[in-house]
Amino acid sequence: MSRGLRTLLCLFLMGPLGATEIVWPTSMDRTSLRSFEDYAQPTVSGKPESALFGMVRDDQQRFHEGVDIRPSARGPNGEPLDRVFSAMKGTVAYINQELNGPYGKYVILYHPEAELPVYTLYAHLASIEKTLKVGDKLPKGTAFATMGHTSTSPNAIPKERSHLHFEIGVMLSANFGNWYNAQPDHRGTPNQHGIWNGQNLAGFDPVPVLARSSVNLLDTVRQLPTALAVTMRTKRPPDFVQRYPGLLAPGSDPAKAAGWYVEFTWHGLPKRWTALPPESKQLPKGVWSYVALDHKFRPQLVQRKMITADAKMPSETLIRNVDILLTGTR
Ligand SMILES: [Zn+2]
Repeated sequence: MSRGLRTLLCLFLMGPLGATEIVWPTSMDRTSLRSFEDYAQPTVSGKPESALFGMVRDDQQRFHEGVDIRPSARGPNGEPLDRVFSAMKGTVAYINQELNGPYGKYVILYHPEAELPVYTLYAHLASIEKTLKVGDKLPKGTAFATMGHTSTSPNAIPKERSHLHFEIGVMLSANFGNWYNAQPDHRGTPNQHGIWNGQNLAGFDPVPVLARSSVNLLDTVRQLPTALAVTMRTKRPPDFVQRYPGLLAPGSDPAKAAGWYVEFTWHGLPKRWTALPPESKQLPKGVWSYVALDHKFRPQLVQRKMITADAKMPSETLIRNVDILLTGTR
């Protein structure tokens, strides 16, 4: 067989080149949805946009890292009947059966076969299949739980506001546990969720992903706008760049890097990594430095606590994310 024909055949067998098939994660029929009001479960504020991703809560002061999808059917007791489905092919990474945090009962799936190995998170579940275990491989659209309203306290979310909190994103560091244990203010508060702790996860807007039946997830993240940049000095490459080589700038060789120029989205996702060689003038004097800002995103960056109100200094979200990314690199 000629090489051209073989290539053509391979492309054909792969289906759409470099795309992940996406399924709506609840029993709702995606084709019936006309606008976000059709699926959004607002907070107690009643504002539909409070269900969406972003600074949508408490007068734009509180970040929501996912989308809240309301039930499509309820039983006689008012509890949701909706099943919860894997949004794409993946592996069970984490199951939390306890009511020990705001997410209540939740499941995290990891998607190593996607163009970018993202995670998806499904929270406030009423129940999780008893047979589900970490490591299980799920084809897309596999039902593994039932929608609910579980959270820290029994009435944190009343059944009237039951929903699936759905999140998609990337993991900052496989060394998160070391970072967590080194924080003085974490003494006495053990890390209950290991590397799947919410502080170690950086989400992006799931709606453009869920809206389509097939998405290239690497392109989706690459196309997120850069809002600010930092430079960092490293002895070893952050494990982030090994996990997400698709986010390296062309020509960036982690083995030769003495540091990195890292572009962040306004919400704190490190979306593009350019290796800095040892002779680079851009290397920071100290461990890291906040070096650039797109003024278009200044209001969101301030609200998200990426930068201080005067835009001159990094603030807590950026400091924490950079700190976590640098764990194990010194
Ligand atoms: Zn939510």
